[in-house]
Amino acid sequence: MDPTLNDGGVIMPKLGNATAKAELGRATWKLLHTMASRYPEKPKADERAAVKQWIFLLSRLYPCGECANHFQRMLKDHPPQTSSRAALSNWACSIHNIVNIRLGKAEFDCSTLENVYQCGCAEDPSEVEGGLNSDDDPLLDLAQALPDAPNVDVEIDSLGAL
Ligand SMILES: Cc1cc2nc3c(=O)[nH]c(=O)nc-3n(C[C@H](O)[C@H](O)[C@H](O)COP(=O)(O)OP(=O)(O)OC[C@H]3O[C@@H](n4cnc5c(N)ncnc54)[C@H](O)[C@@H]3O)c2cc1C
Repeated sequence: MDPTLNDGGVIMPKLGNATAKAELGRATWKLLHTMASRYPEKPKADERAAVKQWIFLLSRLYPCGECANHFQRMLKDHPPQTSSRAALSNWACSIHNIVNIRLGKAEFDCSTLENVYQCGCAEDPSEVEGGLNSDDDPLLDLAQALPDAPNVDVEIDSLGAL
């Protein structure tokens, strides 16, 4: 993947609908905090790089342009802390609190994170190390059996040449 992708500016326009903005925010925070709560306690280098890249790309692609602008500024002052589950969880809690304060909301007590974000995910210990593999998952087998999807970019390019 092109590493310069992380550095670009915000892509989406302003999100004018306040209800949509709040719903999007709640869903995104839930995703971020739950992801942090299941992040490895001792992540490998590529896992650290993956989560960091995901956060930077989220800050470009977040579908509320004005929120994304603030998010990008926050990331400059508070870069993602990816060295462990606790580091990532506390980082996410801190940046959420920065937004809370900016919006005039109460600060969240980050010492309660573990109780709040127990996701009830019923983790299967046999999958903890390597994640799912196709031996265990009939859906993955099915996906592998499907023919490759057509490459739409190539088709659009060739239309342009007509
Ligand atoms: C990256 C980002 C930037 C945003 N920027 C803006 C913006 O510029 N302007 C704007 O109007 N809205 C912004 N939002 C949306 C905003 O943060 C809220 O999501 C939205 O206002 C709804 O707020 P809420 O009171 O329902 O709770 P939310 O802030 O969405 O929180 C959801 C729940 O998370 C828990 N929680 C609260 N604080 C924390 C914390 N620190 N750590 C862990 N859990 C916590 C609480 O249980 C809370 O009910 C942004 C959202 C994101 C993800």
